Amino acid sequence: MSRDPAASGPPLREAGGVLTVDLGALKANWRMLAGMAPGSECAAVVKADAYGTGIEASVPALARAGCRTFFVAHLAEARRARAAAPYADIYVLNGLLPGTAPAYATDRLRPVLGSAEEIAEWAAFTRAESLDLAAALHVDTGMNRLGLTVAQALEMGEAGLEGCPISFLMTHFVSAEEPPNPINARQIEDFATLRAAFPTLPGSLANSSGVFLGPQAHHDLMRPGYALYGGNPQPGRPNPMRPVVGLEGRIVQLRFVEHGDTVGYNAQWTARGRRRIAVISVGYADGYPRAASSSDAHPGADAMVGGVRCPFAGRVSMDLIAIDVTEAPGDLGRGDSVWLLCAEITVDDVAARAGASGYEILTSLGRRHARRYVD
Ligand SMILES: *Cc1c(COP(=O)(O)O)cnc(C)c1O
Repeated sequence: MSRDPAASGPPLREAGGVLTVDLGALKANWRMLAGMAPGSECAAVVKADAYGTGIEASVPALARAGCRTFFVAHLAEARRARAAAPYADIYVLNGLLPGTAPAYATDRLRPVLGSAEEIAEWAAFTRAESLDLAAALHVDTGMNRLGLTVAQALEMGEAGLEGCPISFLMTHFVSAEEPPNPINARQIEDFATLRAAFPTLPGSLANSSGVFLGPQAHHDLMRPGYALYGGNPQPGRPNPMRPVVGLEGRIVQLRFVEHGDTVGYNAQWTARGRRRIAVISVGYADGYPRAASSSDAHPGADAMVGGVRCPFAGRVSMDLIAIDVTEAPGDLGRGDSVWLLCAEITVDDVAARAGASGYEILTSLGRRHARRYVD
């Protein structure tokens, strides 16, 4: 275990929450996904600060594992990815905002173009600058979010891209995490039709869950995000990915409450019998979901304390969470850590308890935590 120079946040001794990012697990997850489709290139989606894990550490780790293509959502993220991976191909999924083409060129970043206006702006800019920097072309096959419509793309065809350098054609799954959903088969079919209209362009379709839909979803370039960071790409089935993110909260106070006492805002949780409560220095302002609060009517999330699963006691506050540690081993003290995310309590578990998605849990983490990178 080594401390990465990219470690950030407050010093460990002062930190209320400590986020551990296992770069070895991140690399193993990338290798596993890449190995599922040896005929395809496996990229990495590193938008939203690499799903909360930190672009500065996660991008170089993925590059060391062999990843050569990265996707972000914003130009500012792309610049950070460029600093972390000087030779990679870096694409910006959210398209080309007016007048930003020169900023792309400066750092050799590539937009994902999704409208006739964007194509025209990129074509004009690259022509005027004699710039050989190919963009991706996004076609919408059902999301109704970004991209040319299928009809627009078929009408345009490869001839319509004359003068605009394009490196590959892409679309995005609507519901890949639900394999039986018929929309998957429809999108796979539509993408095959589209590729026939752009015969020389490579294709990119699969997100994390899409990688698990089999070879017709793989095409030339896969774009996993969530699964790289340990999220389960196959909800309802055992998670094949290694956990990447751990979260510890520090105990600031331990106290006993008596039968009938309540804990936390709005007195939503009532002690049944004498209970020992640990209050930790992590709350919703740290990105931990308030919806994972517990009440007398609904269990909330749990923490692992000394190897024992312990339930939350009452509301998650802005900066604090109370945990019923009565069943935990007896030698707990001030400054000790409890685990909010670990091998036993996954990102998907917390999401389920909070009625949220694991993507939200990951991308909300880390604003105030100390970060520790291990490899
Ligand atoms: C976020 C995103 C991905 C990655 O999706 P995951 O489900 O996290 O694997 C891939 N492609 C596009 C267009 C995206 O926006």
